[in-house]
Order: sequence, then structure tokens, then C-alpha cells
Amino acid sequence: AKEGGRRTFKYYSNTLNDRALERLQLEEYMRAALQNDEFELYYQPQVDLKTNEITKAEALLRWTHPELGFVSPADFIPIAEESGIIIELGDWILQEACFQAREWHEAGLDIRVSVNVSSVQFKQTNLVDNVKNALELSELPKHLLELELTESAVMSDVEDNIGRLQMFKDMGIRIAVDDFGTGYSSLSYLKKFPIDTLKIDRSFIMDIDTNENDAAIVKAIMLLADTMQLNVVAEGVETLEQLRIIDNYGAQYIQGYFFSRPLPPAEFTKFVTEEFAEKST
Ligand code: C2E
Ligand code: CA
Ligand code: CA
Ligand code: CA
Repeated sequence: AKEGGRRTFKYYSNTLNDRALERLQLEEYMRAALQNDEFELYYQPQVDLKTNEITKAEALLRWTHPELGFVSPADFIPIAEESGIIIELGDWILQEACFQAREWHEAGLDIRVSVNVSSVQFKQTNLVDNVKNALELSELPKHLLELELTESAVMSDVEDNIGRLQMFKDMGIRIAVDDFGTGYSSLSYLKKFPIDTLKIDRSFIMDIDTNENDAAIVKAIMLLADTMQLNVVAEGVETLEQLRIIDNYGAQYIQGYFFSRPLPPAEFTKFVTEEFAEKST
């Protein structure tokens, strides 16, 4: 199923009361969705421009409700966070992604899976145990798991978060900072954090061919990452023009519609082993 053809659920009502009701309804639907297996993970490839290989994929949550149809994560994740549903949902996501990556690993495809972790999940004390549990159950080699945390989640509670991240680091799990450039990170803090990757937010890539400020910001992030020996992923690359500019700046990893949209597991496998492999030879 292609995303474009799906219906998108939107809030049409105006009054606070109606919205509160819809929110409650959506909460109820989400709880049921966990029971009824309505959630799925899609995977979007990240291309390594140096080797021309796909070595990593971001897991992205998809929900198709029997009546509402396709509901965008941008609409339901915030409600899942406020209601606490994200804890149970997040656990499911972690396990599902680890099992999928283990399946690829078994098939000879070493794809590191990158899992979005909500700030609500990150603050939860037993996240480390849940991650360990997912790794043990799935028997996924630890280096094939990466956690994506938004810049604002990482930078909110500096001392606590350094400790938390170090625990994952000690376990051999990678950490990526998502939506980088949109928050208020103090760059002097950044070097204190045990992180591996910066993901440059799509908003800076979108107009990079016409907006000099965006281009300058991306260049600065690249320089910073280089100095700190961090990997950089450019998100939301849609056009050849954008790809050329980013490549010119020395970005190594690219994620975006230019290469592929997020795909269901079987289509992802096919893309990696057939379509992309053929394109790049
Ligand atoms: P995000 O983590 O920044 O994810 C990247 C979003 O950009 C995804 O939207 C992806 O489909 C989209 N994208 C990738 N390449 C392109 C491109 O070239 N052009 C455009 N226009 N978009 C592109 P998606 O899947 O709708 O997810 C939206 C947000 O919902 C995510 O932003 C993330 O914050 C949240 N989300 C999605 N899945 C999960 C999940 O499993 N757990 C948590 N906690 N949040 C999730
Ligand atoms: Ca992400
Ligand atoms: Ca992002
Ligand atoms: Ca985001």
C-alpha cells in the first residue's frame, strides 16, 4: 500500500469540548489498536554515499484504523505521549524493530535499525531494562540497534541525560540526535554527550538550494560533526539538486524520498537486495 492513496484523519471540530472528546476517542482507539495489531512499522533506508550501500533504516510507525483509515503519527504520537500510551506502544515498537532487524541479520542483511524514542519513554526509569529485554528476546546483535532521540529531549536535562545515554553506550547501542538544529542546544554541551550521529532536520534541507541561511547552517553542522567525529544523516532529501549540494558539503548518510519512502518490511528487503542494488551497479 502506498502512502499517498490513504485517507488522512484530521480534526475538524472547533470547540475545546469536541476536541477533548476526539482526543479521548483516539486514546481509546489506540489502546484497542495495540490489542488488535493495527500498528505496523515501515522502514526508510539510509544510503551511505561513500560505499553506495544501505546499512541502516529508520523504523516509522504506521496506524490504519478500521474506520478512520490511515492516521498520521504526527497526529497520534503527541496524544500517545500525553496519555502515557506511548510507554506500552514504545515497548512494542522496540521489540518489533529488533525482531525485524534480527530477521534481516539472519538473512545476511546487516541493517542497523534506528528506533524513535519519545522523550516520555526516555525519562522512564525502566527504558534500559526494556531495551535489554527487546535485545534478548529478539537475539539481535546490539550494534544493530540505534535509538533516535530528539535534540530537545536530549538537551533538556543535561546531567541526568548524560548518565542515561552512557548506559546505552556501555551496552553497545548507538545513539542518534534527531531533528538536529531545531532545538536550543548549547554546542559546548554537545560534546559532553555520548552520541554517535546527528540527524540534520528536514527543514534545513528543504530549501537548501535557494536559501543561503539554511545552506550555511547545514555547513556549520557538518563542520561541527567533523570536529566531534560524529556521523551526519541528512533527512528529507527529495531532489537530485539537494543531494548534490549535501554531497558537496561532505554528508555521508542520506535519508529521504529521493531514494525511498518508508516501506513495509518485505518491500524494504526487495528494495535493498534488488532495486537499489541494481541501480548502484
Ligand atoms: P521523524 O522522526 O523526524 O521522522 C522523519 C519523518 O520524515 C517521517 O515522517 C518520514 O516519513 C518523513 N520523511 C522522510 N523523508 C522525507 C522526505 O524526503 N520528504 C518528506 N516530506 N518527508 C520525509 P512520519 O513517518 O510521518 O513521522 C512523523 C513523526 O512522527 C516522526 O518524525 C516522529 O517524530 C514521529 N514518529 C514516527 N514513528 C515513530 C515511532 O515509532 N516512535 C515515536 N516515538 N515517534 C514516531
Ligand atoms: Ca526520527
Ligand atoms: Ca527527524
Ligand atoms: Ca520530528
